[in-house]
Amino acid sequence: MGENPILYFDNAATTRLHPSVLQAMMPYLEDCFGNPSGVYGYARTAKKAVEAARRQVAAAINASPEEIVFTSGGTESDNWALKGVAERMRDRGRHIITTAIEHHAVKHTCEYLEKQGFEVTYLPVDSEGFVSPATLEKAIRPDTILVSIMLANNEVGTIQPIAEIGAITRSRGIYLHTDAVQAAGHIPVDVEALQVDLLTLSAHKFYGPKGIGALYIRKGVRLNPVLHGGAQESSKRAGTEYVAGIVGMGEAITLAVAEMPEESKRLTLLRDKLIKGIEDTIPFTYLNGPRENRLPGNVNFSFDFVEGESILLYLDTKGCYASTGSACSSGSLDPSHVLMALGIPHGLANGTLRFSMGRYTTESDVDALLALLPPMITRLLELSPLYEDYKASL
Ligand SMILES: *Cc1c(COP(=O)(O)O)cnc(C)c1O
Repeated sequence: MGENPILYFDNAATTRLHPSVLQAMMPYLEDCFGNPSGVYGYARTAKKAVEAARRQVAAAINASPEEIVFTSGGTESDNWALKGVAERMRDRGRHIITTAIEHHAVKHTCEYLEKQGFEVTYLPVDSEGFVSPATLEKAIRPDTILVSIMLANNEVGTIQPIAEIGAITRSRGIYLHTDAVQAAGHIPVDVEALQVDLLTLSAHKFYGPKGIGALYIRKGVRLNPVLHGGAQESSKRAGTEYVAGIVGMGEAITLAVAEMPEESKRLTLLRDKLIKGIEDTIPFTYLNGPRENRLPGNVNFSFDFVEGESILLYLDTKGCYASTGSACSSGSLDPSHVLMALGIPHGLANGTLRFSMGRYTTESDVDALLALLPPMITRLLELSPLYEDYKASL
């Protein structure tokens, strides 16, 4: 891998296609354009490709192919898991448990369900973003129908103890959904070990194409469809399949799982180098999220007295791309709900940046970032009225 033309530190927002994924997809964007529902040769080729990809996705998470349904991405899978179970189970109970740090695809779906007459408990997290299984257990009620807790957080990288939580929900006979979008392809995901009933995947977070994802639905789990129409996906999810995307997703998850042992080691070293480099060279910095049980590619820092947006714009002029909190919340002035749930003070939260690394991030990218950041933050500190006030108060 040569020099990267840009310094891309936003892999949690999306990733670049793996070259082999593009290659695998190409035939289905060109000659093999048949509709998998057809009965002639072209169609059978497409159908076979979809089923091969389903086996690849299933194998990557230790599921059976019949338990994998392709969707348009993580957002649809999250919506489906929550709304599908809620609608199906509403006569048994109307209580759902989730956390205060979920992705908007879960958070906003829960808020919608509250308007539909469901009651949602938002579990607190500790200062590193961990949910306590004991707190979850106490929140369970006789009318609880679903627990939805993400496997790894997209902003601060915290990896939740889902296996422990799964043991609790399993023993209580309550469905457990996990949003594994940030985890899949980056850390091991095994639906049996985790004891989950529903699990969300999105291909573009592991070097696959955008607009394709999957929902794992454990055999026997009952949920209503949200898309009605044709009999595609065993009548669980209507709509003509995005064949090239499905093929790309199968290839991407297979490659990501194969590369994972090496990649996660490499990225963990880069992550810890970046964390140490920032802590050693920049004053008034606070690492958000844990140092252990953290996604290999995730670094998230609050810089006191400066605005995250200002740092971001500055970095942008140098061809360096990162993110303040989550992509969906940038552009708004409110600090992210995740940082608030971690108990980070408002002012500090506004000075927060996420650097997320991936398979194309090199050590020289990290060195380049570490050369850019300190002088930039020193300049912003000099311009900061908040820092002036602080110095005056000493
Ligand atoms: C990106 C992301 C999603 C949304 O997935 P899309 O495929 O972009 O709709 C959901 N949850 C998490 C944790 C994510 O990081």
